[in-house]
Amino acid sequence: MSAVPATHGGVRVPGSASPTALLGVDDHMARLANGAILRRAIARRELHCVFQPIVELANATIVGAEALVRWQHPELGRVAPSGFVETAEATGVVPVLGRFVLDEACCAAARWPSGSRGPVPVSVNVSPLQLDGGDLAVVVERALDESGLDPARLVLELTESSEVIDLEGAASQLAEVRARGVAVVLDDLGSGYSSLLRLVRLPVDGVKIDSALVGGVCDDPHAAAVVRSIAALARALEIDAVAEGVETAAQRACLVDLGCTLGQGYYFAKPMPAGAFVARLARVRPRS
Ligand code: C2E
Ligand code: MG
Ligand code: MG
Repeated sequence: MSAVPATHGGVRVPGSASPTALLGVDDHMARLANGAILRRAIARRELHCVFQPIVELANATIVGAEALVRWQHPELGRVAPSGFVETAEATGVVPVLGRFVLDEACCAAARWPSGSRGPVPVSVNVSPLQLDGGDLAVVVERALDESGLDPARLVLELTESSEVIDLEGAASQLAEVRARGVAVVLDDLGSGYSSLLRLVRLPVDGVKIDSALVGGVCDDPHAAAVVRSIAALARALEIDAVAEGVETAAQRACLVDLGCTLGQGYYFAKPMPAGAFVARLARVRPRS
């Protein structure tokens, strides 16, 4: 029995091969098949980006947006990135996925109207594995050239799904894109592989405070103390800190008390299609 049609980038198709056919017996082949399916889905443009506003906590002014990839599968419907980003990383599809998202996010942002603070940047997630090929600067340059986006309006979020083995190599590639005016931030600080050492070794312009910490700011004194310390650390390093996963008014108030200035989360806005984000920006457009 072929394992090929059984899962789509880590997502099971109802009525297809049984799970045991994929586990152990031919796991390697199944993974490769999933990678091929994902690659084909990208080529067929079944993937697209949605955008979630990043705001000033004090007044909810939009100061940027994060591009988040979505897969609209013809049979399965919407597939969350948690399944297929991992598959992309395991099967060598990350460079293709990364280029696709970068191109789409840059093209979208190049057409955004100014917000109340002028043109806002777009943040794009970059897997550490995209640093493996050594051509991040080339890929970024191409996306900027083709979209016409001002490099100062692009932020790369270094995600933490896997360990960066070669920190020195990563640092020199990140320095190259920063020299072009692109900003780099460390995603999910406080969870997984996102260590303070990275803040020392990698040239970064900001951090995103993991939502697991943000979720505890009102009720857990330890979480609150850590978030207060990260906010202070960011100020000392003269970099930005964005609190992720803000879901309630109480969390927003606690974060402000703890010294945080920027946030992102369902309390302000869920990720939305490109058109809806443009409409939201247009509503707050400064008068000329
Ligand atoms: P992330 O980069 O930390 O993105 C934030 C995630 O939190 C997003 O999930 C977003 O939808 C979700 N989120 C935002 N606000 C809230 C909130 O208030 N409450 C809750 N419960 N969740 C909130 P999403 O879109 O499912 O993405 C998950 C992860 O997948 C991302 O985490 C990122 O690591 C990865 N990812 C997404 N898009 C890409 C991409 O284009 N490339 C790569 N390499 N990874 C991506
Ligand atoms: Mg992110
Ligand atoms: Mg994050």
